Amino acid sequence: MILIVDDNPDNIYSLQKLLESKNFKVDTAQSGEEALKKILKYNYALIILDVQMPDMDGFEVAENIAGFSKTKETPIIFLSAVNTDKRFITKGYDSGGLDYVTKPVDPDILLLKVKTFYRLYEQTQALKDVQQTLELEVERRKQAQKELRSKVDYLHTLLESLPQIAFTCDNRGNIDFVNGRWFQFSDDAAIFPQTYPGDRSIAAELHASLQSGKPLEMEVRLKKSICGEYSYQLLRVWPILENSESNWVGTFTDIDAQKRAEKEKDEFLSIASHELKTPLTSIKAYMQLLDRKLKLEEESAEAKYVNRVQGQVDKLNSLISDLLDLSKIDNGKLLINKKVFSLEHMIKSAIDSIIQTHDQSNMVLYRQGDIGDLLIYGDEIRLEQVLVNFLTNAYKYAAGTEKVIVDCTLVEDAVKISVIDFGIGIPVEKQADVFEKFYRVEETSFDFQGLGIGLYICAEIIRSHQGTIAVESSGEQGATFYFTLPLNLPVDAK
Ligand code: ADP
Repeated sequence: MILIVDDNPDNIYSLQKLLESKNFKVDTAQSGEEALKKILKYNYALIILDVQMPDMDGFEVAENIAGFSKTKETPIIFLSAVNTDKRFITKGYDSGGLDYVTKPVDPDILLLKVKTFYRLYEQTQALKDVQQTLELEVERRKQAQKELRSKVDYLHTLLESLPQIAFTCDNRGNIDFVNGRWFQFSDDAAIFPQTYPGDRSIAAELHASLQSGKPLEMEVRLKKSICGEYSYQLLRVWPILENSESNWVGTFTDIDAQKRAEKEKDEFLSIASHELKTPLTSIKAYMQLLDRKLKLEEESAEAKYVNRVQGQVDKLNSLISDLLDLSKIDNGKLLINKKVFSLEHMIKSAIDSIIQTHDQSNMVLYRQGDIGDLLIYGDEIRLEQVLVNFLTNAYKYAAGTEKVIVDCTLVEDAVKISVIDFGIGIPVEKQADVFEKFYRVEETSFDFQGLGIGLYICAEIIRSHQGTIAVESSGEQGATFYFTLPLNLPVDAK
């Protein structure tokens, strides 16, 4: 807005019309005092100031304006009579005015000057706005940096207090912080501790994690700086997002004692199951001999007892076999002997042995899904073991129900073998865990005997056949355990 200050209303009127015709907004004042009041209250882009006014003349007004910090930059055009003394004009400039126009006012010249000043005012205003935004941005960044620094300090204090080795790194893998424990394993804060020859490389695994953005978890043996011994550590590296840039925090947790205990337990299981297997095989053989020698009446009590002993010996035998398999898997020695065989033959054999061992059960076993004489390339004995395991579980966890179904279907380039029961089922959130070593569903573990290793062994066997294994169960309506096997016969068997 432009302020016109003149004691003569006619002059004001004609100037106001002239400026408004060019779309300028205009305010007016008829005395120096009125002008000063308005200038203090509002912001003007330009002041057009008549020099000769009664009471307070234009120069006095300008001097006052120059005295206020809010207005001292506002440009002024003085209007003075032609005969204005040069002394007065200089006075005008001294007091902050920027230009003058002589009376009678030439409208073109005045408009030219007004436009120039107005443009100047707009540019100055725009610059001020930019400067203000910049200052705000600088302030915001300073504040953000301060907050970040205090968060980083907090994180470092936390990491320092951990009982683990801890570090942070950027998303290129450059280590930028390590806690005190780091130096028990590395002399250099920027280099990862030395790992056991042949263990996976930390740098390579970390690099892959950083690329994918996924957390890293791996077991690795680290060399201690003082004694040169290696100890098992669990390395975990997690991304932490800060202003959409990710930094990573890592810890090494000492799991050496746990690993040693696990190894001792595995060794014990391996020795114990081997040692138990030999006398048990003898017991089994002698029981069969005894059975044949005694020639007992089928319905006699003695025959029943012999039968039960044989049944219990079989159970013990299968428990020990599972333990043996477990230690073989742990040592990478579970042998898989692949040959081409008839799948139906294998299924029949599994069903026969289950019916034999569960002759007391009232459950009816149905065979569903014709696969003809489908040939499979795999270890028949091990795959039968999987099916027997599924069926044994079905008889165990669905005892008292009416039926169990063995179903076969062809799916794309695989065959799917399912055992469907209508027993207690498995809660959805626990279904993936049942294939873990020693896992038993807690709610039912007291009601049924077992070690929780059968399905783990099954999963290993199916994995070594490049198949899949899973369970489907919707609550208490039973469970469907299945495995798939690829239909990829060796070329010479087709
Ligand atoms: P075990 O039966 O000796 O405990 P498994 O490895 O065969 O061990 O099974 C692991 C767990 O899975 C079992 O303890 C049981 O909780 C659950 N489970 C397995 N089969 C079934 C089934 N058919 N119905 C319900 N739960 C089952």
